[in-house]
Amino acid sequence: MTASRPLDLAELDRPALAEALESRGHQRFRADQIFQWVYRRGVGDVAAMTDLSRELRARVAAEFTLTTPALVHREKSIDGTEKFLLRLADGCTIESVFIPDTPSMTFCVSTQVGCAMACAFCLTGRMGLIRNLTAGEIVGQVRVLADALSMRGARFNIVLMGMGEPLHNYDETMKALRILTDGHGFAMSPRRITLSTVGLLPALERMAREPIMPNLAISLHAPTDAQRGALVPLNKKYGVAEIIEACKRFPLKKRSRITFEYVMLAGVNDSPQDAQRLAKLLAGVRSKVNLIPLNAAPGIPFERPADDTISRFAQILADHHLTVSVRKSRGRDIRAACGQLIVEGQKRSTGQQLATLAFGSP
Ligand code: SAH
Repeated sequence: MTASRPLDLAELDRPALAEALESRGHQRFRADQIFQWVYRRGVGDVAAMTDLSRELRARVAAEFTLTTPALVHREKSIDGTEKFLLRLADGCTIESVFIPDTPSMTFCVSTQVGCAMACAFCLTGRMGLIRNLTAGEIVGQVRVLADALSMRGARFNIVLMGMGEPLHNYDETMKALRILTDGHGFAMSPRRITLSTVGLLPALERMAREPIMPNLAISLHAPTDAQRGALVPLNKKYGVAEIIEACKRFPLKKRSRITFEYVMLAGVNDSPQDAQRLAKLLAGVRSKVNLIPLNAAPGIPFERPADDTISRFAQILADHHLTVSVRKSRGRDIRAACGQLIVEGQKRSTGQQLATLAFGSP
């Protein structure tokens, strides 16, 4: 066999790595050892994988590479939130955010460069979609943050709430989940991972049949099609009633609930009537509601409601026996809060871009 291009370890889940090793004449279980080095111990240099023989290390080093996003810049908010600017192999940049104590440690990661969903209040939506991230780039954010924060082996949660719509990048997102939950790697419980989606129903229904099931968050934002359609263009395709029906059918694990995210926009979706409609809509759904007061930004034609409007809205939901929380905005001083994502001058295959990111804590 002629020597082929080295395979990227970052892009292989463990069964695929075992396959690749076997086809190169190695034993399949070497994949377990390599996964432990790369993900559990944070050692990407094959030469340092001392439980492989010297000869095997030399061969594996020639046959495989490990691509890791480059950490370009990090910035810390007064509230402890930290934002990381990462450069990918083709020069595109993304950001990931570390949110301490919410009450757990949380990594907010991106699934796409930009986003195609164009929600009216979200700056990422202004960019359009530049490209999907690969599974290796999604997991790579976790590897880089874990090292930068000295958190290899520590407990943390992951929210897929950075740039992008995870279900619009289905295969790579699912592969990333397989890598993150692999027992030989980060070994994350799927319960520590939350996937947030605007409601791409065919993909949601496909996800319902996956063996690995993260927590689910739905970006609902309004109780009627008229209101939601004006905020979330995808609502014209998959409306409120259909989304709620799909949520009712979703095979939730014991004691788990679907989070409904609701960005609060002054005079748009924050009236007591809206709260009542929302409560009615969610009756019979195993749900919790997460109200997200808008993070305003230049060019976003909405305002955040007054605090007492938000509390009144929350109270109405609580009176209807819904579990409700108001998302605390974190990292606003460093433009790391939900929807504050801006990527300036980002073009395919060029370096030197600037990005600022949005995230949410669950
Ligand atoms: N595409 C996915 C995940 C990305 S964003 C989704 O739509 O769910 C994570 C959350 O931040 C979403 O609920 C999104 O609607 C919200 N968000 C976007 N822009 C925001 C803003 N300016 N202020 C507050 N929340 C915002």
